[in-house]
Amino acid sequence: MQDYDHNNIFARILRGEIPCRKVYEDAHVLAFHDIHPQAPTHVLVIPKGAYVSFDDFSATAPAEEIAAFMRAVGQIARDLGVAEPGYRILANTGLNGGQEVPHFHLHLFAGRRLGRMVVAAE
Ligand code: 5GP
Repeated sequence: MQDYDHNNIFARILRGEIPCRKVYEDAHVLAFHDIHPQAPTHVLVIPKGAYVSFDDFSATAPAEEIAAFMRAVGQIARDLGVAEPGYRILANTGLNGGQEVPHFHLHLFAGRRLGRMVVAAE
């Protein structure tokens, strides 16, 4: 597993070095609008802990942090008013998953009918 890069863009957002449009924060989680939205609502949900990817988070995070993260994702969707009629969450993971920022994050997409899941060609 690759080492965590403490200068990745989300680490810098967590340290307040780069601004974000925050939608939610608690002891374990920060959520903010994606800078290049792919849907009317496109929010990124990240743990405050230093995890490279979903693979890293799922394998090494304490159960309390995993539970807090998953609870927060659902709460954020409800707070945004998108639990009905629904939304999509996505975690690009690693090279083949198309992950660009090496700090675990979930994308939360909503605001229109998102269609079937698409796996883009290279
Ligand atoms: P990935 O491809 O790693 O799953 O997604 C990274 C996401 O981070 C992309 O959707 C990209 O638009 C978003 N992003 C990259 N840099 C910034 C930034 O500085 N601020 C915000 N809010 N989003 C960013």
